[in-house]
Amino acid sequence: MIDMTLEVELVPHEQRKAKPADILQVPFGTVFTDHMLSMEYSDGKWHPARIHPYKKLELDPSALVLHYGQGIFEGMKAYRRFDKCFLFRPEKNFERFNASATRMVMANIDEQQALENLKHLLKIEKDWIPQARGTSLYIRPTMIATESKLGVRPSLEYLYYVILSPVGPYFKSFEPVKIMVADKYVRAAKGGVGSAKTMGNYAASLMAAKKAKELGYSQVLWLDAHDNRYIEEVGTMNLFIRFDDELATAPLQGTILPGITRDSVIHMTKDWGYTVNERKIPIDEVLEGIQSGKVLEIFGAGTAAVIAPVGNLWYKGDDYSVADGGIGQLTQKLFDTLTGMQCGQVEDKYDWVSVI
Ligand SMILES: *Cc1c(COP(=O)(O)O)cnc(C)c1O
Repeated sequence: MIDMTLEVELVPHEQRKAKPADILQVPFGTVFTDHMLSMEYSDGKWHPARIHPYKKLELDPSALVLHYGQGIFEGMKAYRRFDKCFLFRPEKNFERFNASATRMVMANIDEQQALENLKHLLKIEKDWIPQARGTSLYIRPTMIATESKLGVRPSLEYLYYVILSPVGPYFKSFEPVKIMVADKYVRAAKGGVGSAKTMGNYAASLMAAKKAKELGYSQVLWLDAHDNRYIEEVGTMNLFIRFDDELATAPLQGTILPGITRDSVIHMTKDWGYTVNERKIPIDEVLEGIQSGKVLEIFGAGTAAVIAPVGNLWYKGDDYSVADGGIGQLTQKLFDTLTGMQCGQVEDKYDWVSVI
């Protein structure tokens, strides 16, 4: 479905930015492409979307998002191999975008149209999609409450926009990450907004992340807010623990992000014959399992890092080294299969990859 009302204003070729010479040297999310997409909502409806030069936003200082945090986003990637570009389960991202919007009492978008518009933008920015394995064009659909008003209520005006950033691997190399288990701070409670990709969740996570950094750990693993005992998820990834041939991950009960990578990992590992359980996992079971050798591997799963091996856990002053501290066998297989599928090199038997 081509949007006949999509307006396109291109940057003249001679004014376009230079692309990074070596994408592997560019810190994640610091370089943006020449164009972006914007669409405004007011008077109870969305107005025609526009593709236009990347530019600063103009917002009233009283815009609702700046005060009460009514804002959501998504994170997805476009991959490239030779002259072909790929998206991985993109309809899931727009579905979740609307779920986040609904939770935050924001206007919903037309998911199919949003995907078509994104594809249009990607065609224009195709040369920005890096080719090397592990690199991609990170896509950030965002929606913010733009109505100018001091007063806590849902905004009557929104801005939806999409920006694109060429990225290398999220973590410098595919090396095990060190994770601090939060023993004091919590991310989300039942009934809260933990399953929405909404801005405040990330602001709320910064304090624990700072503490982790001070201790020499790069990420935070959250425990549940009620008992402070059960595994939830990592900052931007869902977590999987392999106990012998059982693969376990936290259940979706409204406090964690329903990750698309998580869902893909569950599908694939079931197919490979593992017993996969979405269940409550007490932190003591994990730590005991590490000590007894029952925990064979731990890894995070999320679009940004794809699959990230976990080498160490810190909990209440002690450091636990997972297995031999290296990259687990299943972790490696998932990483290779997913990244291979995402760039069209590994057979896509689930029909997850769409060619642009
Ligand atoms: C985005 C995100 C994830 C991962 O979701 P994917 O769909 O796999 O990218 C996990 N946890 C949090 C908190 C997130 O923001």
